[in-house]
Amino acid sequence: MKISHAEYDCIVMGGGPSGSTTAALVADVGYRVLLLERDAEPRRKVGESLMPETYWVFERLGVLEGLKHGPFVQKVGVQFVSSSGKESSPFLFTRHDPRECGRTWHVEREKFDPFLLDNAVKKGVEVHRGVRVLEVVFEVDRAVGVRVAAEVGAGEAASAAAEAASPSSRDVIRAKVIVDATGQAGLLGARFSLRKPNKDFRKAAVWGHFRGSRRDVIDNGVMTVCLRTQSNRSWFWHIPLSNDVVSIGVVGDADYFFGPGAGTPEEIFAREVADCPAMGQRLAGTEKVAGLDVVKEYSYLTSRSSGDGWVLVGDSWGFIDPIYSSGVWFALKSGQLAADTIVEGLKNGDTSGEQLGKWVPEFARGTGWVRKLAEAWYCGQFRVGKFIREYPHHVRPMTDILIGRIFHPGAGDIFNDLDPWLERMKAEGVTS
Ligand SMILES: Cc1cc2nc3c(=O)[nH]c(=O)nc-3n(C[C@H](O)[C@H](O)[C@H](O)COP(=O)(O)OP(=O)(O)OC[C@H]3O[C@@H](n4cnc5c(N)ncnc54)[C@H](O)[C@@H]3O)c2cc1C
Repeated sequence: MKISHAEYDCIVMGGGPSGSTTAALVADVGYRVLLLERDAEPRRKVGESLMPETYWVFERLGVLEGLKHGPFVQKVGVQFVSSSGKESSPFLFTRHDPRECGRTWHVEREKFDPFLLDNAVKKGVEVHRGVRVLEVVFEVDRAVGVRVAAEVGAGEAASAAAEAASPSSRDVIRAKVIVDATGQAGLLGARFSLRKPNKDFRKAAVWGHFRGSRRDVIDNGVMTVCLRTQSNRSWFWHIPLSNDVVSIGVVGDADYFFGPGAGTPEEIFAREVADCPAMGQRLAGTEKVAGLDVVKEYSYLTSRSSGDGWVLVGDSWGFIDPIYSSGVWFALKSGQLAADTIVEGLKNGDTSGEQLGKWVPEFARGTGWVRKLAEAWYCGQFRVGKFIREYPHHVRPMTDILIGRIFHPGAGDIFNDLDPWLERMKAEGVTS
């Protein structure tokens, strides 16, 4: 790896959506930004269904045209299927907001992440792939730089990087601000033990890509469908992608999936499909595109979001749950908010923890509404269709949360009715 400068204004660790957004927006105003991504090659990842509110960050990044003409299918809504197989009416985003921003996309991450990274390069970011940040270097309590190593065995790009990087792996690449966008790896969160796992959401997922599954086309787009299993011990996502491929995954308690005597991922997946006839129908006659992947124990917040010279964004800051497909939206939004405070701080010569974390309280408040709706999903009584039939006026605020429009006063008003309703359902013995 041959870096162009000994010192940068900003170093971003991680080239997922949060990292590429932060880097692009800081570089866009002329600052010197270095982004280091561990993976030498893009790879398949979870996080394929977007929320419509991503539109506004895409607009800021200048990538809307690329997305519209790119390889991704349009997502126009979301639908829930109860444990008895009853389908809720679709939450159609375009009917909720007929503007262009009412639509979004289902994305293959091995194409989407490089698409955003390429945009960062266009904005002037110096990007290196196949380079792992080993550690953030501190002087007293201030982050001042990083030490790096090339990833071993990650292909040609990595070996080229290894050659040049290993002699310098003791060297510090310096910057005024270090952004931790390392996702679930959470480099700084691990160093300072900042991560607070959500004990109620100790989940795991088994997922893969299949060709030939049913896809319902509405308004020239497709929907993300979330289906509960009959026993209610897990739920499936069904996310149609391009080229007739559909991403299908099942999410359940980590202990239930991978406790003592657990089967292989294939056995777990098959057992849960057998418990979900509606998914069985969608899988009938499909062909698996590649092997199944497993993701475990992934819900947490961090007790601190920034310090002098450093800030966390995206999954490195926190992750709720996949149920409402909010992760990439939060990655983009936190990247944008962090970039704005970094730029302000660099301009004013203030890169204190207080300055770099200024955006967090409002972000935490908004994302908290999605967390609360996720808790409702798992509480065992939430029948989405039944709630909406009883409170039809809540279809709009509920859709607002489902599209990610959560950063405004009143975003959580739905819970004034939903909380007592869930209590009533519990008393009446209703299950989701
Ligand atoms: C089961 C499951 C299903 C999900 N489904 C959805 C969904 O449908 N929709 C949605 O929006 N979200 C979904 N998510 C969440 C989504 O995947 C994440 O929220 C999103 O990818 C976060 O983006 P990020 O940029 O913060 O992190 P990531 O996308 O994880 O990017 C982090 C990057 O950092 C790199 N990195 C790590 N360590 C280092 C290091 N030391 N040095 C350099 N680079 C490093 C990694 O290689 C990676 O590229 C799901 C999550 C799970 C667990």
